[in-house]
Amino acid sequence: MTTPVSGSVETRPQTAEGDTGDGDDYAHYARKEEITRAAIEGGRITAICGWQFEPVRDPSRFPVCPRCKELKDLAQQLL
Ligand SMILES: [Zn+2]
Repeated sequence: MTTPVSGSVETRPQTAEGDTGDGDDYAHYARKEEITRAAIEGGRITAICGWQFEPVRDPSRFPVCPRCKELKDLAQQLL
């Protein structure tokens, strides 16, 4: 006689918590002060293109944001 296993089904609401999926999979450039501040205080970094993001441990996994690249190139020309 087999007893069907009941009560083992876990139902949990789908929450978007911790999900940064805004459709942005780019590595952004940010000013050094921004990165330092975020490392100390936590919170988000504002990239030079204006995008706000959580600090990423390994940004090299992502392609570089084209806008950030463009702005960085421009900034270097100005220096
Ligand atoms: Zn960017």
